[in-house]
Amino acid sequence: DPSAAVPADEDAGSRAQVAPGEPLVVLSGVNKHFGDLHVLKDIDLTVHRGEVVIVIGPSGSGKSTLCRTINRLETYESGSISIDGKPLPEEGAELAKLRADVGMVFQSFNLFAHKTILENVTLGPIKVRKQSKAEAEKRAMELLARVGVDHQASKYPAQLSGGQQQRVAIARSLAMDPKVMLFDEPTSALDPEMITEVLDVMTSLAKEGMTMVVVTHEMGFANKAADRVVFMADGAILEQGTPQEFFNHPKTDRAKDFLGKIL
Ligand code: ADP
Ligand code: MG
Repeated sequence: DPSAAVPADEDAGSRAQVAPGEPLVVLSGVNKHFGDLHVLKDIDLTVHRGEVVIVIGPSGSGKSTLCRTINRLETYESGSISIDGKPLPEEGAELAKLRADVGMVFQSFNLFAHKTILENVTLGPIKVRKQSKAEAEKRAMELLARVGVDHQASKYPAQLSGGQQQRVAIARSLAMDPKVMLFDEPTSALDPEMITEVLDVMTSLAKEGMTMVVVTHEMGFANKAADRVVFMADGAILEQGTPQEFFNHPKTDRAKDFLGKIL
């Protein structure tokens, strides 16, 4: 029953108290190259508090690089990026704090294979957020229950299904109380029957007011959860709008062509 995996509303956390609508993630004129490849071209993107932005576009258009750059897993050459009014830090403790503030869920679940599910979720809060083990474990069990995998807490990642592992990965990010969550094709490595259980958790997070940037081609989810759809091709943002505007009335030929292939 996928609805068992839907987080409870009372756990919305501190974000619920924050005024929605202010700029939270701001990219301005961001450019990045991989060698000769101009992979991010003058990217301007503002994600507001509580907003859910879906990023779609053909393979190779720079969507993953955009996410990784926001999380400072990649560097960039020009332009600026700020999170909650502060420029991205370069290194050290501030960078660890940024990685906690900006949660990221990848296509491959990236859990620590030799740690239990519970340890996967408590590691960051203990190390970066300086929580006690008991405090971190209590919160971790609450989050694992929200995503419907609390019964697996003492198991290792390989003992879980892909959908369960991805829900653990979401709980692990949430344990850091992130200001924004980045999801990079979180369901594209999953068997079809497991996609819904992960999308249900994400839909629930969106409803609770989590600020989210989601790279996905799951159009049902985009229609239901997105405030805005951003279309990328060849490293540039070509158009953006509400899901209704974008899916029903794409403006550029690139977007029309892309939608023709995936819808
Ligand atoms: P998307 O996620 O939209 O499929 P990516 O951001 O993964 O696109 O990649 C954008 C482009 O950058 C692609 O042409 C890809 O081959 C290239 N690229 C991605 N990562 C690297 C890297 N680490 N080194 C060199 N080229 C890369
Ligand atoms: Mg990608």
